[in-house]
Amino acid sequence: MEPIRKPRGTIDILPGETASWQYVESVIRGVCRNYGFGEIRFPTFEQTELFDRGVGDTTDVVQKEMYTFTDRDGRSLSLRPEGTACVARSVIENGLCAGAMPLKLYYITNFFRYEKPQAGRTREFFQFGTELFGSALPSADAEAIALAHRVFSALGLTSVSLHINSVGCRDCRPRFREALIGYFEKNIDALCPTCRDRLYRNPLRILDCKSPVCSGIAAGAPRTTDYLCDTCRGHAEGVERLLGSAGIEYTVDPHIVRGLDYYTRTVFEFIDDRIGAQSTVCGGGRYDGLVSSIGGPEIPGVGFGMGLTRLLACLERDGLLPGADGSPELYIAPLGEDSAAAAFALGEKLRSAGINVTSDLCGRSVKAQMKYADKISAKRVIVIGGDELAAGRAVMKSMTGGESIEVALTAEDIAANLK
Ligand code: ATP
Ligand code: MG
Repeated sequence: MEPIRKPRGTIDILPGETASWQYVESVIRGVCRNYGFGEIRFPTFEQTELFDRGVGDTTDVVQKEMYTFTDRDGRSLSLRPEGTACVARSVIENGLCAGAMPLKLYYITNFFRYEKPQAGRTREFFQFGTELFGSALPSADAEAIALAHRVFSALGLTSVSLHINSVGCRDCRPRFREALIGYFEKNIDALCPTCRDRLYRNPLRILDCKSPVCSGIAAGAPRTTDYLCDTCRGHAEGVERLLGSAGIEYTVDPHIVRGLDYYTRTVFEFIDDRIGAQSTVCGGGRYDGLVSSIGGPEIPGVGFGMGLTRLLACLERDGLLPGADGSPELYIAPLGEDSAAAAFALGEKLRSAGINVTSDLCGRSVKAQMKYADKISAKRVIVIGGDELAAGRAVMKSMTGGESIEVALTAEDIAANLK
């Protein structure tokens, strides 16, 4: 029979790799605790309308990339393509805006987008994200950026650079939009089909098109920074001042616009040019209109999403991932049924003492068990045959070139000799 394969664009994370994920996640959780962000978990699927309204129905994510289905009751549901709209929905629904504000939340979870799979881009992917609700001040933007920056530095990653920009607000963005449309109309025939298609729907997005021709044209396009109203300009300067005061280096990059409609004012990306075409490891910004667009109160917010697969690729390349050590401290090799029962009981006692123990589950010969112990990199082995059982003592052999010692077959004596 043909073996069944995983769906295109998904990944298996195997035991040899999960240690790296756990390490990165624990560093992230530590940094979030450090900044007073609490973890939130939310459903894998939501009503499709949440993303239509919250992410924007002119975005690629909603138009082309969502996994949308109708359930048995005829409701339209979608697998979450991103986290911000989900978190905002949960915050409103659970009345968290009535509690202490600002509200600082984070998540580490999987998302789904129907995209063309390639290096750094999958259909199920993993993000660490933060959302901060209830502050319109530049200090909130700066704190979100500083938190992401600290995750990179805590992991030892020095190759990512911070790019920031402002996309303006409801007042000044329309003028910028008009200017962009005017500029790109003159070059419409040269644009790629996707950009031609989004010229009137979402012209900002042309600025970050990856096609060389479009990016060449975009290089001469009007700059958001020339169209900002005084309030947005003041906000941008405030963010820059705070980053500067904390020694966080950044470049103001007018081509950073972000793909989702909800961004206002600050947008930013952390880019690592050495991981290939999918070089944005983290992207985020301010989204002051989002909460009210999905039926909540007028509450400002700022946050980011960090792609974990891309982050791990950077860490792996720079040798910044610790080796996995899940190998057992002790392998117990029983010989015969009585010994097997004794080995089982002994193993359980040692595990109660927090020791990582493995034993035979297949009734194998001692020779085959030694081979297995070697394959799983057990550090020590005890063979328990009839003689050992009768004497209550056995030899604990080191598999790593250390000394072999005789121990009593008790959890206490073995544990003491493992130290
Ligand atoms: P891109 O321009 O790379 O498509 P995006 O603007 O769609 O990114 P966001 O929605 O802001 O990305 O998501 C934040 C981060 O999540 C990205 O910077 C990236 O690291 C990661 N990410 C997004 N989509 C994918 C994907 N399909 N596969 C792997 N990682 C992804
Ligand atoms: Mg995308």
